[in-house]
Amino acid sequence: MTGLYLDAAATSAVRREVLEAMWPYLTGDFGNPSSHHAVGESAARALAAARATVAEWLGCRASEIVFTSGGTEADNLAIKGIALGAPRGRHIVTTPIEHEAVLASVDYLVRVHGFEATYVPVGRDGLVSPDDVAAALRPDTTLASVMLANNEVGTVQPIAELAALAHAQGVPFHTDAVQAAGWLPLDVRELGVDALSVSGHKIGAPKGIGALFVRGRLPLEPVLHGGGQERGRRSGTENVAGAVALATAARLAMRDREANAARSTAARDAFTAAVLAQTPGAELTGHAAARLPGTASFVFPGTNGETVLLELERRGIVSSSGSACAAGSEDASHVLLALGYDEDVARTAVRFSWGPDVSEDALVAVAPAVAEAVGEVRGLAS
Ligand code: PLP
Repeated sequence: MTGLYLDAAATSAVRREVLEAMWPYLTGDFGNPSSHHAVGESAARALAAARATVAEWLGCRASEIVFTSGGTEADNLAIKGIALGAPRGRHIVTTPIEHEAVLASVDYLVRVHGFEATYVPVGRDGLVSPDDVAAALRPDTTLASVMLANNEVGTVQPIAELAALAHAQGVPFHTDAVQAAGWLPLDVRELGVDALSVSGHKIGAPKGIGALFVRGRLPLEPVLHGGGQERGRRSGTENVAGAVALATAARLAMRDREANAARSTAARDAFTAAVLAQTPGAELTGHAAARLPGTASFVFPGTNGETVLLELERRGIVSSSGSACAAGSEDASHVLLALGYDEDVARTAVRFSWGPDVSEDALVAVAPAVAEAVGEVRGLAS
């Protein structure tokens, strides 16, 4: 594409190293890992190696990794699988700012299986309070799920603290780390979580591959039934090339994450300051400091976010109103409403998100175009 792509939270391009690593498993080494011949055994070895690498990335055992078709499936398997696999209890604790993959899975359990859900509120900065999480836990709580980083405003939650509170009540804890991947440490021992979801296409692997870490002895009811692959936790012929791709992207993340995060955090702060200085009335959403290095979201009161996006695109800048996963929906963002924004202000949101290859200079150079686009839309409105 021409212009500047600032919608990396929606998806990213497949990285060359990733494509090269997966290519053999789409062509010559195309075997089914369950087949008992050399072609199958070669695929099985590649799958095992990929699983070991993803486990190294997440700080767990290879047997604790379940490959899935992406973040949505990992979230579905975590929420439904842990809740339905639990020996007792019918209560789930989560937040109103989770991705739809979590929210809709919880809603399914409520509608179809008679669960109850408590949605712990968040502040204007998008943070949940540990006290509120502690207060929401009940003797019959089967699962708590709080995302590591929010996909719209980028706020990063104190997951280790929240997981410890859940464990003090004997409650397993899941975190959706889809947006955090590539930016934040994902060591499940340090986070203290029992389940964690990641998705390949946010870190330079293709769409359609993801993984769920699920702690060894935690009972997990499968969502997909069939041939019993993935130790019975996720049936379906394994996406070997996808697993190799995810592992390659994970290896790159292990190598480059710290340097990328430091560089992008500086770029993010310079960009945020430039936008706030140059666009009257702009407000940064989410937490000012506890947020992802690659995300800055704003509201521009007096505009319409979708029209600002079009004006930005005319200037060669591709961004998003927030959740691409809910594309087509005209509703104001459920995240911004939960943060306490009025519906008409929530509709003025624009999210800029980028990968580690976008420089500070390139980002800061976008700020005047943002001011222009917002001014243009305000002019139209008045
Ligand atoms: N969770 C979060 C926080 C996300 O941002 C997304 C996608 O944007 C998902 C889950 C879903 O992942 P996937 O697109 O791999 O299904």
